[in-house]
Amino acid sequence: MTTLAIVGFGKIARDQHLPALSASDRFDLIAVASRHSSLDGVDNYPDIDTLLTEQPALEAVSLCTPPQGRYQQALAAIEAGRHVMLEKPPGITLSEVEDLARRAQRAGVTLFTSWHARAAAGVEPARDWLAERHIRKVDIEWREDVRHWHPGQQWIWEPGGLGVFDPGINALSIVTHMLPQPFFLSEATLEVPENCQSPIAARLNFTDALQTPIHADFDWRQTGPQTWRITVVTDDGTLVLDDGGSRLTIGDDLKLDGEDVEYAGLYRRFAELIERGESEVDITPFRHVADAFMLARRQRVEAFIE
Ligand code: NAP
Repeated sequence: MTTLAIVGFGKIARDQHLPALSASDRFDLIAVASRHSSLDGVDNYPDIDTLLTEQPALEAVSLCTPPQGRYQQALAAIEAGRHVMLEKPPGITLSEVEDLARRAQRAGVTLFTSWHARAAAGVEPARDWLAERHIRKVDIEWREDVRHWHPGQQWIWEPGGLGVFDPGINALSIVTHMLPQPFFLSEATLEVPENCQSPIAARLNFTDALQTPIHADFDWRQTGPQTWRITVVTDDGTLVLDDGGSRLTIGDDLKLDGEDVEYAGLYRRFAELIERGESEVDITPFRHVADAFMLARRQRVEAFIE
């Protein structure tokens, strides 16, 4: 068992990391570092520096804080010889994540940029099916209600918080893994509330070397039923990956309506990487977001009031 601590005991740590770790036979959760929260039954610290100093037996940390400030936490852990798993997105710039990768390699520790949506049950079967088909068109719809999913979270609207790309990057993490060809952005529009630094909606047109049209529509203003769907039209029928990647339909056949296996899969992967002495640092989804911030037209829209 690898001893592990969670840093930033907030929404995702409670909702997903804690249950996944409780069920894991590869990790022993021994501590939490969080300024305002604590967990019964483990050692609690106010910050990562105190954690690293006072827990010499600690082998790994899982960083569940918002992306702003994550670099310093990861750096401290790497320099203290601990393995590091990063929540998505892995940071606030591409360069800082690349720097962490170099430093982890030098320090001989594992760095894992996790992409939870990629671990959804339908993603691998969809990837296998698409590998042998000619793709004509891809349509990504990722529309949800920000007030429901991110109550009180101011960091999402600040620089580095990514706005609607915070969920949208989950879709990008799936398609960058699932589609056989690399693709790239050709045109984008971001809708930015007049009191925010980051977008509440994004429309993105990507293409690839075969000129495949790949359209993405991310919107944080959808109330009622929520949509996390990717539709891929091929010369052999249409594949639909729904519910964030857990439900897979090909043509009229429902192939899979899977359970939520994402975080169990992430911790299995982290354990494998530690065992093999390897890192996994994939910034491809994050690069597409950076490209959107570089290329997009901005439209100012009405202020966001929670
Ligand atoms: P959150 O609840 O707002 O923040 C997590 C915890 O980090 C907070 O409880 C807070 O704990 C600590 N924190 C907040 N701001 C901090 C700061 N400036 N410096 C140091 N610590 C800070 O956020 P979350 O929703 O869990 O998201 C965290 C990460 O997980 C994000 O990258 C997000 O994209 C990813 N994620 C979230 C979800 C989701 O559904 N929410 C799903 C998948 C992935 P203390 O105040 O106690 O230190």
